[in-house]
Amino acid sequence: MREKIWLSSPHMGAQEFEFVKEAFDTNWIAPQGPLVDGFEKDLAQFTGAGHVAALSSGTAALHLALILLGVERGDEVICQSMTFSASANPIVYQGATPVFVDSEPDTWNMDPALLETAIKDRLAKGKKLKAIIPVHLYGMPAKMKEILHIAARYNIPVVEDAAEALGSVYNSKACGTLGTLGILSFNGNKIITTSGGGALISDDETLIQDARFLATQARDPAPHYQHTHIGFNYRMSNVCAGIGRGQMQVLPCRITQRRAAFDYYVKALAGLPGIQFSQEPAGSYSNRWLTTILIDPRENGGVSREDIRLVLEKENIDSRPLWKPMHLQPVFADAPAYVNSVSEDLFNRGLCLPSGSNLITEQLHRITALIRGLWN
Ligand SMILES: *Cc1c(COP(=O)(O)O)cnc(C)c1O
Repeated sequence: MREKIWLSSPHMGAQEFEFVKEAFDTNWIAPQGPLVDGFEKDLAQFTGAGHVAALSSGTAALHLALILLGVERGDEVICQSMTFSASANPIVYQGATPVFVDSEPDTWNMDPALLETAIKDRLAKGKKLKAIIPVHLYGMPAKMKEILHIAARYNIPVVEDAAEALGSVYNSKACGTLGTLGILSFNGNKIITTSGGGALISDDETLIQDARFLATQARDPAPHYQHTHIGFNYRMSNVCAGIGRGQMQVLPCRITQRRAAFDYYVKALAGLPGIQFSQEPAGSYSNRWLTTILIDPRENGGVSREDIRLVLEKENIDSRPLWKPMHLQPVFADAPAYVNSVSEDLFNRGLCLPSGSNLITEQLHRITALIRGLWN
């Protein structure tokens, strides 16, 4: 079997281990500590967010965001359909109903026109809409100007799912800092990792203070354990934050490397009919977390997405269809959905290619040669 090539694997720099050693040397082996504080400052500085709470996962961050916005049983939350299930699951944790909105073809993210259609229809049906969750899929910024404009018109807060978009920029602002709240993920497959972790970010200090309170079991100020709220154990460990502090030092470099992988694919596959890459709209800068392609068998003599995936799989190379839209998932079969067939088409024709920042040119060459072979 040839050497495995992963879709997106962890890529440590030089300092992560030093920071983790610091946690051991100072015996701060707890879900709090100086490295957690430091990692939050690093993230605030990098993104320009006013305030940051480091948490145990991106999913936990999204769950707390919905609690802070008062999402309760019977409420509805609008969520991009084309995404990973973690964008939508916390809506259900709160006993609320997800309402899915399809994508537009430029960024593959939430379609602003369809968002407004959905809002009007839900309101006409007497529903209470508590939040809107757009996603910056694969690092590509969603059409935030339009989305924020509509959200403001109906006075609905926006929670940006920027789990895949740390380092992506929209009109000079970091993805995750445009809405009321934003969430980041440091899972093992993301652009930087703490092995597992996430963050909630906002310019609203009170929201972030409340998030830290809820994330540490909601202990009221008292010498004994006193509680007036239901709490969670969602804080980031000081050991994980040490990995995060090291990763922050190499983040700019990781963005450059992911973008270089994207550029390699574009050049190496140039001229093959029926392969399409996503383009950055004016004002948008993608971290290119994953390089994704769309395949059109009608334009290339019958090569399908699955043909490519299977050829790579045989050579021990990871590739994966794009996210299956939430409105097509069995678990969300009963959820209201406003669809236009864009996300379904993306799911049928799209493929994520290996995109780790640790890929070497020889591996990229191996992958693109196999793909080109299908066109001969
Ligand atoms: C990874 C991811 C999440 C969840 O983050 P975790 O840290 O794994 O909980 C949420 N949304 C999207 C779009 C993601 O890709």
